[in-house]
Amino acid sequence: MPPKVDWEKCDGCKGKDEPLCEQICPGNLMTLNENNKAFCRPYRHCWDCMSCTKVCPVGAIETRIPFQIGYHGAKLIPMMGTDTITWTCQDIHGNVTRFRYKNRTDED
Ligand code: SF4
Ligand code: SF4
Repeated sequence: MPPKVDWEKCDGCKGKDEPLCEQICPGNLMTLNENNKAFCRPYRHCWDCMSCTKVCPVGAIETRIPFQIGYHGAKLIPMMGTDTITWTCQDIHGNVTRFRYKNRTDED
């Protein structure tokens, strides 16, 4: 499922020439609208790599789990640490499970 941007949180990367989600998207799908809020265009080309979700500094991008796996309302939220990533998985009943992994480095 394509990313969903919370426009209350998105600050357009504070006027950067190219916002982070736009820089990192391998399909060049993320861009800003006339109000400097990010969105994914066109949805059907997104292949759910979640790079934009991970890079957003204000946590404005949410990944919606396909309904075949998690039903509507299920979420997967990454939080990048210095050398770890924590995934928060919320199911349709609001149950939360967290997984923390060490990030891979060039030496791994
Ligand atoms: S990285 Fe986040 S804050 Fe920056 S433009 Fe994209 S959604 Fe908005
Ligand atoms: S999930 Fe990946 S392919 Fe889809 S918009 Fe984000 S960065 Fe681009």
